[in-house]
Amino acid sequence: MGKVIGIDLGTTNSLVAWMTPQGPQIVPDNEGRALLPSCVAFDEQGKPQVGRLARQGAVAGPERTFFSFKRFMGRGLTEFAGELGYMPYPIEGDERTVRFPAGSKEYSPVQLSAMVLATLKRRAERYLGEFILNEAVITVPAYFNDAQRQATKDAGEMAGLDVLRILNEPTAAALAYGLDQRKTGTIAVYDLGGGTFDVSVLRLEGGVFQVLATAGDNQLGGDNIDDLLTAALLSETPELIQDRNWLNQVRNLAEAAKKDLSTQETVRVILDLPTGPLDRTIRREDFETLITPLVERTLKPCTQALQDAGLTPGDIDEVVLVGGSTRIPLVKRRVAELFGRTPHDELNPDEVVALGAAVQADVLAGGTRDVLLLDVTPLSLGIETLGGVMARLIDRNSTIPCQARETFTTAVDGQTGIEVHVLQGERELAQDNRSLERFTLKGFPPMPAGLPKVEVTFLIDANGILNVTAHELRSGVETTVEVRPSYGVVDAQVEQMLEDAFIHGEEDLQQRQRIEAQVEADRRLPKAEELLVEMQSQVPEADLIPFSTALTELQTSYAGGNYKAINAALEALEAAAQPLVELRMNQSVQQALQNTKLDEVLAKVEQARREGL
Ligand code: AMP
Repeated sequence: MGKVIGIDLGTTNSLVAWMTPQGPQIVPDNEGRALLPSCVAFDEQGKPQVGRLARQGAVAGPERTFFSFKRFMGRGLTEFAGELGYMPYPIEGDERTVRFPAGSKEYSPVQLSAMVLATLKRRAERYLGEFILNEAVITVPAYFNDAQRQATKDAGEMAGLDVLRILNEPTAAALAYGLDQRKTGTIAVYDLGGGTFDVSVLRLEGGVFQVLATAGDNQLGGDNIDDLLTAALLSETPELIQDRNWLNQVRNLAEAAKKDLSTQETVRVILDLPTGPLDRTIRREDFETLITPLVERTLKPCTQALQDAGLTPGDIDEVVLVGGSTRIPLVKRRVAELFGRTPHDELNPDEVVALGAAVQADVLAGGTRDVLLLDVTPLSLGIETLGGVMARLIDRNSTIPCQARETFTTAVDGQTGIEVHVLQGERELAQDNRSLERFTLKGFPPMPAGLPKVEVTFLIDANGILNVTAHELRSGVETTVEVRPSYGVVDAQVEQMLEDAFIHGEEDLQQRQRIEAQVEADRRLPKAEELLVEMQSQVPEADLIPFSTALTELQTSYAGGNYKAINAALEALEAAAQPLVELRMNQSVQQALQNTKLDEVLAKVEQARREGL
């Protein structure tokens, strides 16, 4: 039995599922209901109530009843300019945050989501008896960026869950249908819910899922169909639309009729309205004519996603239906026609994402199937090196999970620590990029500059979380930090960062080359000066002329700041130093043979070779 639970944290409803010997199953509440409305309301005392009662307005008025908060996860309020529309509850926030005031307190989207998750956790614990369940897989839309994924993970942790994996909803749907078993293929996931429409194109290769493209419309779903049918029913008594109570009653009837029309050819709608009795028989055929424009609107994003993925409908091997509105026969037909194949609809479309999350949960709990999923990083990641330059370890658009490693060293003799400054962005200089984290690796023994070997490893896990490890290889000293890659970097900022990199590209590159050349000169000049002094007592002065000339040349070009001249002088210096370095190495070897402290000498020889001087 799986002890890791799978959670579909939805905009409208959320579900929890787990793996049984018979396959993944939804965990119902005490009354046998699978769906938990993603709705939190606060009563007069500020006590939260989650779910159906909150949704029905039984706890508090509209200004303290919060729903659709998933839209705000990991985003700042300013990002919503213009697209927010009317919301019945108050919303506050700034560039980085969104907050919902309720009474004397304020809640973040992460806190409200945590309340939904905690309710599902308790539901699973109660249903499954003795276990304390604290490990979970939580699904998110495929288009969620790092910040939205991190916010979801935070909500899980706030609810007392150890979030083992953040899983893309379309990938979960494909897993629920066992499509990972086919090893390779291209899958379209068509998700038409109550308020939103999403389509994703996935590529499955060797059991690994990759999201190729996503598209959709966040204002299109079953609610629009209900609106349409309500309007049709009230077409002869439009004055009733002003009366909220009657409007709601007709709307509920319309939704019920819509659902019945998914399995019946005709439906009769009867209601005693103040204007006289409403009695209509609706045929499926007429209903389909009514909603055809809405269904057609979903096909455009499908074509768009295919185009973005560089595919045609013929390339799609499997189509999966998600969301309650895909029960409508017309929707199924049109999707089948577009992709040229019958879509999978054997599972309950409201439950397939949660069921897939349970499959992934089982994999992580040590079950039999092994599935990964892939995503990409939105911006490059690296660390600051000498001279304020960013050394890039992971390029933007790299597929995650991924790992990169690079070795650095110290610049000063006797240094026992090194500062690691983690950066994100596309510019050449550290100061122009976003600073994510600074930490110090300290406590390694003092060594000559250049001798310590500090290996910095960047690891981005499948959830998009970055772990940075710095490890001094000679002494074994190690430090690890978890970094939140783009938490708080709003989409607009990502775009701005990319644009800046483009605009300043040429100028940045030149500055970087100059700094790199100067850093190299800084490193070599003192050694060269030292070598010159040392050799003056050992070789005739005339033999030192090429070397001392090259040294002067480097000092002059360094002051001039032209990177090409500095690099040329560095090369000339290296050539001129060659005979002197050989001479010194030979002396070291002879000293070793004369049996002085062998280790010390060996270290010097190594160092001489490494420094190339
Ligand atoms: P979801 O957001 O996935 O829970 O989708 C809920 C939407 O599916 C709502 O608009 C429901 O009215 C709609 N829905 C549920 N059952 C049916 C059905 N049998 N036929 C048509 N629409 C349905």
